Amino acid sequence: MGTRVYVELWWQNEARANELMQQVMDEMERINQLMSPYKTRSELSAINRLASEQAVPVSAELFRLIQTSVRYSDVSDGAFDITFASLGSEYDYRNKIKPTESQRKKAAALINYRDMVLLPADNSVRFRKKGMRIDLGGIAKGYAVDNAIAILQAAGVESAIVTAGGDSRILGDHRGRPWLLGIHNPRGDGQVLKLPLEDVSISTSGDYERYFEADGVRYHHIIDPHKGASPSELMSASVLTDKSIDADALSTTLFVLGTDKALKLANSQPGVSAILIDRTGKVYYSSDLVDPAMQ
Ligand code: ADP
Ligand code: MG
Ligand code: MG
Repeated sequence: MGTRVYVELWWQNEARANELMQQVMDEMERINQLMSPYKTRSELSAINRLASEQAVPVSAELFRLIQTSVRYSDVSDGAFDITFASLGSEYDYRNKIKPTESQRKKAAALINYRDMVLLPADNSVRFRKKGMRIDLGGIAKGYAVDNAIAILQAAGVESAIVTAGGDSRILGDHRGRPWLLGIHNPRGDGQVLKLPLEDVSISTSGDYERYFEADGVRYHHIIDPHKGASPSELMSASVLTDKSIDADALSTTLFVLGTDKALKLANSQPGVSAILIDRTGKVYYSSDLVDPAMQ
C-alpha cells in the first residue's frame, strides 16, 4: 500500500500472537494486490486500463468498496471522489513532477464520479469519458484496517491496535487504561494533541505526507475535485468514529472541504468527531468535543 503498517496486540501465547500478526499482514497484502493502482495485475488497474472502452467486471469486494466511495461522494457534494485520479495520476510527488497547465485542465475535466457507471448485475464498472481513472487511496487503508481488526476479534483478541498510514483502529483498551494516540504536528516533529482512546477508529489526512513545493505552491496528494488542485485551507483533518473505513473516507473528505464545510458535515454525521488544524495552526473541534458552557 506504499505505507507503513503497525500492529500491536495482547495475547497470552507468543507463537499464536505471531501467527495472528502474520494473518493481518497477509490480509493487508491481499487487499493491496486487489486495489493497488501501481500493480498492473490488480483489478483496479484493469478498470483504469479498460473501463473507458467497455464495462469491466470486478470482484464483489472491490465493487462494494467503489459503491461505498460513491456514497461518500454523494454526502460530500463530490469533495470525496475516487475519479480524482484522472488528475492525481499526473503528479509524481517523489520526483516533483506535475502536469502542465493545459494537461491539468484537461485531466481535471475528467473528474466526476457520476461519469463512472456501476452495474450491480455483474459487478462491472464503466467510464463515460476516455482517460478517466480511479484510485482508492483515500479509503482502502481504512477498509484494510477494519478487516485486520475483524481477524483479531474473531480470534478472541480483546486489546489491539492496527495502523496503516494515517488510519488506525483500536480494539479494547490498553490493559486497563486507554490507548494514547497523538495527532501529528503538521509542520514539525512530535504531536500537537494526545487522545485517550478505546474501541474507536481515528484517521488523519494531511498535506505533509506526500508533497513537494514549487513556485511557492504546495502540491500534495489530496485533490479538490471541483478546483482541480490541492486544497490549502487545512494542514490536517482527523476523524474519530467506529469503523476505520468511515474515518478514512471522511478525513480525506473533510480535508478537501475546508474548515466551515468540514465542521458542518462532521456535525451532521452521528457518531463522528473531527479535529481540524488550519493553515495558521488553529485547531477546530466538532461540536460533540466542545463543552457547551465554554462556547
Ligand atoms: P493516507 O494516504 O495517509 O491514508 P488519506 O486517507 O487522506 O491519507 O488519503 C489520501 C489519498 O486519497 C491520496 O493519496 C489519494 O490516493 C486519495 N485522494 C486524494 N484526493 C482525493 C479525493 N478528492 N477524493 C478521494 N480520494 C482522494
Ligand atoms: Mg482518508
Ligand atoms: Mg487513509
